Amino acid sequence: MTARVLVVDDVIQNVKLLEAKLESEYFEVLTAMNGEDALEIIDKESPDIVLLDVMMPGMDGFEVCRRIRANSKSAHIPVIMVTALDQPKDRVAGIEAGADDFLTKPVLDLPLFARVRSLVRLKVLMDELRMRETTGQDFGISIGSDLSRNISLSNARVLLIEDYPRVADRIINYMGDLAAVDIDDVEAGELTTEKLEKYDLFIISLSLNKVDGLRICSQLRSSEGTRRIPILVLVDEGDTKQMVRAMELGVSDYITRPIDKNELAARAKSQIRQKRYANRLRRNMQKSIEMAMTDAVTGLYNRHFLATHLDNLMSSQNDKRKKVSLLMMDLDKFKLVNDTYGHASGDEVLYEFARRISNDIRNIDLAARFGGEEFVIVMPETNLEYAHFVAERLRMSIANELFEISGSVEPIPVTVSIGIAIAGDKNLSSSKLLVAADRALYRAKENGRNQVCSIE
Ligand code: GH3
Ligand code: MG
Ligand code: MG
Repeated sequence: MTARVLVVDDVIQNVKLLEAKLESEYFEVLTAMNGEDALEIIDKESPDIVLLDVMMPGMDGFEVCRRIRANSKSAHIPVIMVTALDQPKDRVAGIEAGADDFLTKPVLDLPLFARVRSLVRLKVLMDELRMRETTGQDFGISIGSDLSRNISLSNARVLLIEDYPRVADRIINYMGDLAAVDIDDVEAGELTTEKLEKYDLFIISLSLNKVDGLRICSQLRSSEGTRRIPILVLVDEGDTKQMVRAMELGVSDYITRPIDKNELAARAKSQIRQKRYANRLRRNMQKSIEMAMTDAVTGLYNRHFLATHLDNLMSSQNDKRKKVSLLMMDLDKFKLVNDTYGHASGDEVLYEFARRISNDIRNIDLAARFGGEEFVIVMPETNLEYAHFVAERLRMSIANELFEISGSVEPIPVTVSIGIAIAGDKNLSSSKLLVAADRALYRAKENGRNQVCSIE
């Protein structure tokens, strides 16, 4: 996976060194030697990741990072701070300024590549989610407004997997009010805690007595319910190999022992925030997809979705297309319902109508609202005889039971006319099938309504 990395350092040798290392791994490298230049390049070039020296004359790395985060154009770009000393207090200051990660000088190859790759991976995912979000908005659905609101960290839940009771106690203590922490000390290689999906974060020791912590990480990553929950691993000091393997498995972050209280809290917070942000994007996206496909009054698929679905079903490569039946339904004298009881009551009838027909068709059939009071049912693998049978049953489910509406004390009668078309040599495109069903419907109306007609 390649990416564009911006290296910022006031010492030219440092810049050259990092540039050479990253280019040897096929990253594209941009460089800047002070904060102002860095911000300008970020604004113009939108790099995928920034490696930022902390100590620089003029604007220091913390300030540059704060400004990257404050600008909505760059707020999502991952930042790795490069510090001269491995000082916990520098790390905490960095995380508070919005840094995602840290490297200590001299920068070693393995941690450098592991950190950069893992953050680039995360960014690719986030960019994809954000893009779909935008597509949803282009569709005319504005649901992204709450994205800019702060992510709440309240009621966070953390599962800690650590079998040294003293260390476990200390971590729970360090987490303080940040999250409720449960412990699993892992029996026979299996997590014993139930409902893992409810957690916001897993903290996993890689020096467990009974089992291999990396194996647990890998299991959590491969199972559907937990693959999106961040994992923070506890690594022994100097064990770079273990850290790199964890990062390769898709672990979100690591912390080295001895564990610093503030660093643990800061990293946990940052992981929980990212997870909740990604969840929110995903939920919004789901909502926008549903809204783009369905009709608000009835909850059925809309005409746009029906057209796409029917085109796919009737595409010339599909050998099932000759067996498709289509019902076109239109409520009888529906204008009268509106005129007599009001538009809101009309909507109630449409809703109840949709409910009855949805309950009365098979899973493989698709019901859609085609227009105002017109509905379509697409039935794959269905011959004319069976289509007639279904249409007649649907007609009766409407006519035989009165509709309750708020505009009338008495329930009211509603009827529907139905036209059937069968795909065949004459109706082998979606538009021809629809036209044929419409003609059949017209005949049902002409013949006196509340009936089913077909044109062979
Ligand atoms: P016919 O039996 O010939 O189909 O008579 P009709 O009155 O049903 O047909 P017409 O096409 O004259 O009228 C359709 C009515 O459906 C008019 C329109 O106000 C109403 N309608 C369309 N969409 C909606 C809607 O979303 N809600 C409500 N309440 N009414 C709608
Ligand atoms: Mg009508
Ligand atoms: Mg009509």
